[in-house]
Parts: sequence; structure tokens; C-alpha cells
Amino acid sequence: MPMVEPLSQTSGGLSADGAPQDEDARWMVLALDEARAAAAAGEVPVGAVLVRDGRMVATGRNAPVATHDPSAHAEMAALRAGGQALGNYRLDGCTLYVTLEPCAMCAGAMLHARLDRVVFGAADARTGAAGSVLDLFGVGQLNHHTAVQGGVMGEECGALLQDFFRGRRAQARAQAQPVRDDALRTPEARFVGFDGPHAFFSKPPALGGLRLAYADRGDVAGDGRQDRRPVVLCLHGAAQWGYLFRHLPDLLPGHRLLVPDLIGFGRSDKPKKEALHTREWHAEVLRQWLAALGIGEVGLILHPDMSGLADLLAGQGVIAGPRLVIPPAALVVRGAAAEDAARAWAAPFPDKGHEAALRAWSARRRPVQDLSADAARALAARWQALEGPMGYSRG
Ligand SMILES: [Zn+2]
Repeated sequence: MPMVEPLSQTSGGLSADGAPQDEDARWMVLALDEARAAAAAGEVPVGAVLVRDGRMVATGRNAPVATHDPSAHAEMAALRAGGQALGNYRLDGCTLYVTLEPCAMCAGAMLHARLDRVVFGAADARTGAAGSVLDLFGVGQLNHHTAVQGGVMGEECGALLQDFFRGRRAQARAQAQPVRDDALRTPEARFVGFDGPHAFFSKPPALGGLRLAYADRGDVAGDGRQDRRPVVLCLHGAAQWGYLFRHLPDLLPGHRLLVPDLIGFGRSDKPKKEALHTREWHAEVLRQWLAALGIGEVGLILHPDMSGLADLLAGQGVIAGPRLVIPPAALVVRGAAAEDAARAWAAPFPDKGHEAALRAWSARRRPVQDLSADAARALAARWQALEGPMGYSRG
């Protein structure tokens, strides 16, 4: 391994023509990509790249949650990978670009590595160790090697962090919405491993504070345009929840699938009173929910249990598209698949208190049913035949 030549520029100063600044920004863009990848993985978005002689040596992204490792900061990951790549624990001649001001741990590691230079984006008023809370790089007894430059693309780096924490707070608020006194809510942990409805709605007056869970697959989010694709409402049976339709969205591209967990089922709140579970009340909840989503005309794919509810919705003018009842033969399951389905159908009901809806709909002891991938494929084909080549949307 050849000795590494230190960079000529070690003071952190920039030349008057601004060229080094452009170079810094160019690398910071790559560090931002790493930060976004961290955010996508649910980690606080911080990213880093290690550079020597104008070449990228290593990258790192924040990952303490996934790795169960408090030291898995972006800088540590980049320093470790860089040491491996260069075959040397000393990183003379290297510059580390990181989107957030390093903490004391990472600053210490950089000093141990004799890094030439660290360039960061946003300052960290809570744990920053490059000037914000303390300045390890400014302690003469510790540092003879590493120059510091802060504020490079600081706004972009800071905005990414702010967006992340704003999103997380909104999620926490949604999770923290209190349960009504006369209802129960199934702990999220019961649903780990099951794909299904995960958006929540509590606004329609009929709900009176109860929370309806639903999946909105194929929603065109946030661009303000009206989604003109045909909407298909999928209603699970009296012993199931939205998990029944997990295979369907991929099989019906060009459609917007709305899959609620009916109140009392799945992730939706579970009123303790059986008497609440009339068809009329459920129909009214669904009508108000669809109206609140701004949806006027829907087709319907339903479990045979829900035919009466579907008649009520049709009577209210909610169902204007085709209606397809899942053939009973498509719901039959055996063997290992039946065990999986049984686990999924039991998930929302940790104890008898949660089972009022099952009692009200006489669904406590049912043979296990499910819609396999094959059965879902056949169902999707039937739906498309029913709809006709032009679809049914008159929007
Ligand atoms: Zn750190």
C-alpha cells in the first residue's frame, strides 16, 4: 500500500475564485443521496462520502435503528468503509463530506483517522462537535490534522432533516389519536408480517371518533390532479380484514383500489357493543368515508357476506360501477395456507373484548377462507371482463 499524499489544502480556506466551493457542493450532493436513502429506510437522514484525490473512496449512511448500533452514524460507516478500501486506518489525504455537523463520537474518530478535512452541511445545535455545542477540532492538544468547513449546502441538508422529523411527528400524532372509551384498538405489533390497510380515517360524523383503517392503493398523492381511474371498493368478509385483498392491487393496474377494514375488524377501532354493528350503520360509515375522500362513483368487489351491505350502498347511489361477488370456491383454503390465513384472521383479536364484531356477525367459528394469489388473479380477470374494454368511468 503506497503512502498517501496529503492534500495541499489543509486549512479549510477556499480560494477566491470559488472553485473549491463548487467541488464541495458536488460531493455534498452525493452525501445528500445517502441521507435520502437513510430516510427511505426509516433512519434519521444523514449521509456521508469519503473522497481522496478527487475520487470517491467510500459512502456511509445513518443506520443505528436497523443495525441496533448506537455508533452506526453516517460518518462512522464512511470512515470504516474507507479504511477497508484503502487498507489503512489512517485516512491522510481524505476529505469527508457529511450532511450534518459531526457529533463528538464521529469527530473523535476523524481525529484518530488523521482525516485531512471534514465538510458538513447543516449545523447541529443539539450534538454538534464542530463548533455548535463544542469544538473538538479547535482543541490544539487533540487536533493537528483535520480542517473543518461547515454550511456547504446547509439549507438542503437541514430541510431534509426537518421534513423527516415533521413526517415522523405527524405519524406519531396519528398513532396517538386516543381510543374512544367504549372501544378497543388492536396493538400494531399483532399485524407485523401482514400486508394490509394502514391509513386511518376518523373524520366522518358517523364514526363519532372511531378510527377506520384503509388501504388506498394506486392513489395519486399530492400532485393536486384529479385521479380519474376507476375506483374499486373491496369489502372483506365477516371473519376477515383488508389483508384478504393483498394480491389484488398489482393485478388491477389502472385502477384505484380502496380496501377498508370495516369497523370492528383488522386495524380499525373495535367498539365493545355488538348492537352497533348494523348493516345500516356500516353502510353510512362507508358512504361518509367515500364522500370525505371525494369519491363519487365506485365499483365493488366483495365477499359474499357483504351482499346485504352492498345492496344498501347501491340503494344510496354509492355503487355505480360493476359489482363482483367473490365465488365461494375461490375462498377455500387447505393445508399450510389455511394456517397462515388463520393467523392473519386472528391477528386483530387478541382477546374476547375485541371480538364484538365477530359475535354480532356470527363469525367467530368459521372455516378459514382466503384469497390466494391464483384466486386473486382469476378474480382480477373476471373483473376486467365485467368492466369491458372501456372501463366504466364516465368521469
Ligand atoms: Zn456522529
